[in-house]
Amino acid sequence: RFTGTLEINRKDEIGQLAHSFQKMTERLSENDRIRKEFISDVSHDFQSPLLNIKGYADLLGNDDLSEMDRKNYAAVIQSETERLSSLTKQLLLLTSLDQLESPLHRKYFRLDEQIKDTIRKYRWLSEEKQISVSLELDDIEFIGDPAFLEKVWENLISNALKYTEAKGGVDIILTDHGDHVKIEVRDEGIGIAPEHLPRLFDRFYRVDESRTNKIEGTGLGLSIVQEVVELHGGNVQVDSIDGVGTTFTVTLPKM
Ligand code: ADP
Repeated sequence: RFTGTLEINRKDEIGQLAHSFQKMTERLSENDRIRKEFISDVSHDFQSPLLNIKGYADLLGNDDLSEMDRKNYAAVIQSETERLSSLTKQLLLLTSLDQLESPLHRKYFRLDEQIKDTIRKYRWLSEEKQISVSLELDDIEFIGDPAFLEKVWENLISNALKYTEAKGGVDIILTDHGDHVKIEVRDEGIGIAPEHLPRLFDRFYRVDESRTNKIEGTGLGLSIVQEVVELHGGNVQVDSIDGVGTTFTVTLPKM
């Protein structure tokens, strides 16, 4: 007897089929919800810098502007353009990670060298804020996708520097554990309150705008970190004490 809905508790094949259809439908509507939320977040994040650029560009057209105002308006346009550019780059990176087949191009490279290069890239920031960066890196020959993994270190290290007050400290430790490697990025920064930890790796999630709104960011960095690390079969963990500091620990299996 068919009643219009399939009973999903039935133990036979029909029951199993009904159960998998039910799961598929749930997953599809969940995907749909995530997709809509994503588009709305992206639109919002593009909209506000674009409005600023338009506003200040209009003001620049004003004939009786002081030299000082002109410089300030141009600076806002410049920084908002940079924000749009980094947002676009991160979105493109996320799109390339979302490919159905594995997007990874693995090869041999020195992980410790890559981490050192990344720290060098952010020396302007550590020096500007007088943050002391200490390193303990084992020599590690690793097989993985160097281009994507570079983004992991860039995001974790730039976050540690961004969310640490001037004159604080950041420690980066890379250890060889035989069948896996561990990378810890520790900072003495503003920390993260426990209620934010469950959503920290979500796309566009940023903690408490009032505290971090002066710090540039897109909320995409940690979602990229997590996706790249998981594609390599590893995991990323965060331990933080609000107001004391944060440690991100990445574990990657060796192939
Ligand atoms: P963002 O571009 O905003 O830095 P992320 O995805 O990299 O985006 O990080 C998400 C949020 O997590 C940040 O906005 C910040 O609130 C918080 N966060 C990330 N790293 C740290 C850290 N080392 N210390 C304190 N807060 C952090």
